[in-house]
Amino acid sequence: MRELTYVAKRTVEWREAPDPTLRSGREAIVAPVAATPCDVDSSILAGHGFIEPPFALGHECVARVVETGDAVTAVAPGDLVVVPWSINCGTCDRCRAGLTAHCTAVPYMAMYGAPIGGRRGGLFSDLVRVPYADAMLVPLPAGLDPVAMASASDNWSLAWRLVAPHLKARPGARVLVVARGSIGLYVCDIARALGASEVLYVDPDPEHRTLARTFGAATAETLEPVPQSFDIAVEATGRVEQLALALKCLTPEAICESAGNHFRPGELPLLDMYLTGVTLRIARDSVRAHIPDALALAASGTVAPEKVVSHVIDWEDLPAALPEKHLKPVFVRADE
Ligand SMILES: [Zn+2]
Ligand SMILES: [Zn+2]
Repeated sequence: MRELTYVAKRTVEWREAPDPTLRSGREAIVAPVAATPCDVDSSILAGHGFIEPPFALGHECVARVVETGDAVTAVAPGDLVVVPWSINCGTCDRCRAGLTAHCTAVPYMAMYGAPIGGRRGGLFSDLVRVPYADAMLVPLPAGLDPVAMASASDNWSLAWRLVAPHLKARPGARVLVVARGSIGLYVCDIARALGASEVLYVDPDPEHRTLARTFGAATAETLEPVPQSFDIAVEATGRVEQLALALKCLTPEAICESAGNHFRPGELPLLDMYLTGVTLRIARDSVRAHIPDALALAASGTVAPEKVVSHVIDWEDLPAALPEKHLKPVFVRADE
């Protein structure tokens, strides 16, 4: 089989690898049918990552189950499933507490699409081994399109986590979104669907802003901080100075969520944060715990994640098309 491998800045290529095989009864082999780059993959492709290539890329996909071990009961060959970006066992204390990105049964930060905590391959591969099939895989609800939900492995479900619980605690809150890619647009969609009274989306990209307006958001190219204007802020730019600006816009005891991946250092306005009383949450997302909630919202028909899909591209075109700068291209297998 082939693995799409990141080899150098703006360069990926197919590399041959042995077909994965079941190593225990708890495993499954899956074949991605719709896969898409995470927003952080754009940074990696642009050369801003911190891991030396080569490595297999990709950690967002809907896949078809090809083979399952004897002990697997939750999925069967032929099922369409969401494959979470991080590897988790489902039975350790952390997993049972919902902290699936911090599973203690696997090396620290074990994930697809980056060789951290071992090499697990990427989800832009022809076949993928899933070590804990029952714990990890989430069946795609009937009626949901694999292309629209390819991002449920990470960015869509992360966006749900960044805003949904906070809107539940603060009904009708005003939401500020400072972003650069799919995560922020998904947040706009979800925030509007869950009753935000106001959403402001800040992004220098005019096409992204146009899309945000279709989700009912007001938009701005840059953020001019106005104190006490938002109850919830979401930053998904990977830039510390943008996080700092967002933090200056908040009401007392507001919540600011950051999607992280700040590869360069910077300063935060800690005195402003202290005086306002701000909770800043910046966390690698334990996505497996809330993929079902994020899929349920998608299935409710009140949101439109398919609008963020910018291009649908054939799987065979991955090496040429992935390094191009697109908002959210989804790569699909022709035989599906
Ligand atoms: Zn990601
Ligand atoms: Zn675990």
